[in-house]
Amino acid sequence: MDLDAKLDLLADAARYDLCATLAAPGRRFTPRTAAGGASEDGGAVHRARPLFRVLMSNICAWNCAYCPLRAASDGPRASLEPEELAAAFLPRYHAGAVQGLFVATAVHGDVGAAIGRMLDGVEALRRKHAYDGYVHIKLLPGASFSDVERAVRLANRLSLNLEAPSADHLRRISPERQWHTDLIERLRWAREWQRTGALPAGTATQLVVGAADERDRDILGTGAWLYRELGLRRVYFGPFRPIPGTPLAEAPPTPLARVQRLQQADWLLRSYGFLQAELPFDATGDLPLHLDPKLAWALANPGRFPVELNTADPEQLLRVPGLGPLSVARIVRLRQLHPFRELRHLTSLGSQAARARDFVTLDGRFFGRTPAELARLYAPRPIVEQLPLF
Ligand code: SF4
Repeated sequence: MDLDAKLDLLADAARYDLCATLAAPGRRFTPRTAAGGASEDGGAVHRARPLFRVLMSNICAWNCAYCPLRAASDGPRASLEPEELAAAFLPRYHAGAVQGLFVATAVHGDVGAAIGRMLDGVEALRRKHAYDGYVHIKLLPGASFSDVERAVRLANRLSLNLEAPSADHLRRISPERQWHTDLIERLRWAREWQRTGALPAGTATQLVVGAADERDRDILGTGAWLYRELGLRRVYFGPFRPIPGTPLAEAPPTPLARVQRLQQADWLLRSYGFLQAELPFDATGDLPLHLDPKLAWALANPGRFPVELNTADPEQLLRVPGLGPLSVARIVRLRQLHPFRELRHLTSLGSQAARARDFVTLDGRFFGRTPAELARLYAPRPIVEQLPLF
């Protein structure tokens, strides 16, 4: 099989890994951008070029229940030799089509052999071809201490997919992975190197949402613990999709709205000062699908509102639906120059900020809707696959 035919299989298989979105730039890495787009946080007018995503091998000895590459599945298989990684990546990098590398592998042979082949490829890229740009390496569960150490020396970012939020959930979908020893212990090792500054873009992980009958409370609780205790830079959420020929082929797909709600709640925990106990879980431990979790929290806590836009402290303003860190900073700056008195002063900040009218007063005046109107507007409604409006 020639290199292009291999890449048809191996680049395609890697495209679902959400950890492969570009990491925040570290001290040794400045992302190249192309004009015309918006950055992830909406703050810049340049669009980051993609990473080149590839698997070293899609031949796997393991049998994760949700995965099309599991050993028991048929399908074309391929693997790259270590020197082929540079041959696949560098022409695209030098042409400016990609700005860095994301590389992962299935368990080809055993964990040590599969990781060794992947690290040999990255090492050749670094040493023989003097490539000093961005590399994100996804490790395998059970990687040895020396392989993790070697990966730290070669990568800007490391990730290791937990796939499920607890040992019990993981057992249901990925029987070969041991939660504590193969995953958490390895993330602890990586945390120690991250603390020394050896991993400028930090560590990350990914969970498959909806494959293990887990609740949103399980996922967000584990995510909060990973940020707090293991210093992870990001936890990514991927929707489960049933794959024909796998044990979960008949299971329902996870609505994209659920993943969107988890991402929003994850932001509340990381950037808005929310505690997990404050998130608006229902009796089963899931977030409402039809509402942004911050809006759902605000509607469930009417005693916290309205707040006076001209005097509330930034932490209070961050709790107002429609306001984020950027708009709060703008409000704090603008209100020193001129008080917010009219609705147009708020709506001039943009359509998102305009949603705050239901939860703030402007110089003592309230321009929002009544509780009855809000209850009607935000009443529960069925959401399946479409992204909801609020
Ligand atoms: S280890 Fe599991 S998720 Fe990874 S390729 Fe193999 S079967 Fe798929």
